[in-house]
Amino acid sequence: MRTRATRPRRAIWLVALAVCAALIGVLAAQPRIERLYLRQAGAEDAATLRLATQVLRGALERTEALPALLAERQILHQTLAEPENEGLVPFTNEMLRQAALSLDVSDIYVMDLDGRTIATSNYRSDTSFLGRSFSFRPYFTDALGAGLGRFHALGTTSGQRGYFFAAPVIDNTQIIGVVAVKLSLDGFEEAWAESASTIMVTDINNVIFLSDRPEWHFRTIAPLPDAALEEIALTRQYPAERLRPLSLRTESLDPDLGFGLELLEVGDETFVNQTALIAAAGWRVSILTPTGPATQQAWTTVSLLGLVIVIAGLILASVLGRRARLMERLAAEQSLASLLEARVTERTAALKSEVEERRATEDRLRATQKELVQAGKLAALGSMSAALSHEFNQPLAAVKAYAENAGTFLDRGRSSEARENINRISGMADRMASISRHLRNFARRPQDRTGPVSLKSVVDDAIELMQPRLRAVDLHYDCPPDEIWARGGPVRLQQVVVNLLGNALDAMEHMENQRIEIALTGGDDPKIAVRDFGPGLSEDALEQAFDPFFTTKDPGQGLGLGLSISYNIVRDFGGQLAASNHPQGGAVFRIILEAADPAPAEVAAQ
Ligand code: ADP
Repeated sequence: MRTRATRPRRAIWLVALAVCAALIGVLAAQPRIERLYLRQAGAEDAATLRLATQVLRGALERTEALPALLAERQILHQTLAEPENEGLVPFTNEMLRQAALSLDVSDIYVMDLDGRTIATSNYRSDTSFLGRSFSFRPYFTDALGAGLGRFHALGTTSGQRGYFFAAPVIDNTQIIGVVAVKLSLDGFEEAWAESASTIMVTDINNVIFLSDRPEWHFRTIAPLPDAALEEIALTRQYPAERLRPLSLRTESLDPDLGFGLELLEVGDETFVNQTALIAAAGWRVSILTPTGPATQQAWTTVSLLGLVIVIAGLILASVLGRRARLMERLAAEQSLASLLEARVTERTAALKSEVEERRATEDRLRATQKELVQAGKLAALGSMSAALSHEFNQPLAAVKAYAENAGTFLDRGRSSEARENINRISGMADRMASISRHLRNFARRPQDRTGPVSLKSVVDDAIELMQPRLRAVDLHYDCPPDEIWARGGPVRLQQVVVNLLGNALDAMEHMENQRIEIALTGGDDPKIAVRDFGPGLSEDALEQAFDPFFTTKDPGQGLGLGLSISYNIVRDFGGQLAASNHPQGGAVFRIILEAADPAPAEVAAQ
């Protein structure tokens, strides 16, 4: 139980630990993720870099050929030949202006061998080159020496940055002057400024020449050698006072590769830097992609990953928690079930022992009953022997006395007295025979057949049998005219009626007016009722009259078997024998029998 509950709790702790570890892992992976986004941002800006480089290169290449082409124009030859010709120079100026406009360059100008400008497209401007000398510019000297001069610089007159191409004007193998074309570069920066990224062009000396960030113009990204500084001053390429280093720090984004993208920190800004070369101009074009969005994206990704991990952890924890609760419930149910099972087993065992106890009790009860029956039998035997010994001892004692007396009388010759005694002995023997018969009737069932019996004849016969004792009695016999048939044995039924009449006579023995009423009724349960007008049944007699050997009569007067025998006889017929006291005094005994059809054969057998 305890281990089951703690296991899921431990699992939840493990999940929490795993979530923390995953969060730390994701945090640790942030720089890598950031680099991924930085590389992606750089890759996206690679196209911009390519385009900017191509545009720049295209413009330079297109302009590069122009001075040579222009140098072949005869008008320039003429102008160089007659620089003071007031009719020709303005014409040339205008022609150059038109050419500059149509060729989309900022300036075209012609210089004599001293570098002095004798005709220029910007003749109308306040900053006209007319009369100005550019002999200090390398493109001039290069054009004179090598045929093509090229140079980029901040315009000393215009203040505009430009790329200068120059070619000699040759007349019959003789260089008579130089024609120069200036391409203004300020316009490119305007286009670059629209992009979120910064573009910068550095020259061979690592001076930022072009950039959509004006504050970076002419800043250096690497220390300038003294020779280069001198050269710049000599050619007046850049304003010397602005050549200050730009504080920056680089770090490769692909340290394993050793080339490609790099991180560039400029001041407090960080960029992804990638470069392309314009070899002819000695330029390096760089595109600087701000790292801010990529960093932010990386943090967003890290946060999302963290959130996903936390949510996954929560889900897992809730699943584990639910599982834990389920397991706890299952365990509780299981323990409840086992508790119930234990109780059922306990109860079953208790029931079993109870059943066994009851069985034992039943056995004991049966044994006790047997003992009681035995005791009852012994008690009956006891009371019977007491009754019998009394019944037999008295006549036996009398017989003995009479026999002795008879002997004495015979010795004395008094034969008549002796005979009298012998007669008495005979009477005693009759009495004992009668007792013996009674006992036999009680013990054995008489061989009397059961069948339809005429109650009238039964009662008539009984009255006749009892006639000697009934003579002094007022007998009322209520007899219906029709025969009443009941199921029974005629002799035994007669014996019952005789017994009832005898008891009635005994009860009224000392009364002067003795009266007996016999009533016969038919129907479904035919009855014979015998009522006397004696003292009625005592309380004990009402309870025990039918018990064998119950008697209230004096010793020698009754055995207490009459009613008991009668009761069993009537019960054998399927009927009942009931005793009660009549409300107006006296006892009433009712023999209630089952009605029977008088079948002729049965009737004949009566
Ligand atoms: P016994 O006549 O030998 O005593 P019974 O079984 O016939 O035996 O009767 C039992 C007892 O019932 C009698 O002793 C008597 O007390 C009582 N008894 C029977 N019949 C009557 C009656 N008609 N009136 C009063 N008591 C009676």
